[in-house]
Amino acid sequence: MNCIFCGEKTVADGLWVLGSHICALCESKIVTIDAGDANYDFYKSGLKKMWRCAGACSPSAETILASLARR
Ligand SMILES: [Zn+2]
Repeated sequence: MNCIFCGEKTVADGLWVLGSHICALCESKIVTIDAGDANYDFYKSGLKKMWRCAGACSPSAETILASLARR
């Protein structure tokens, strides 16, 4: 399985969201990134892409980021 963000082949760690995999490194970036970070839009659009694939009744990227940050 490859990480949906960086494309690296990942092992068992990391995060599964609706059948897509996020490696531990990207997961840690996502939960700690703030809106001023240069990579923020990259990760946010990646999350949106995942959620669009998952179906119409999906939460926004902000909702996903918020739920990840609460973990
Ligand atoms: Zn990754």
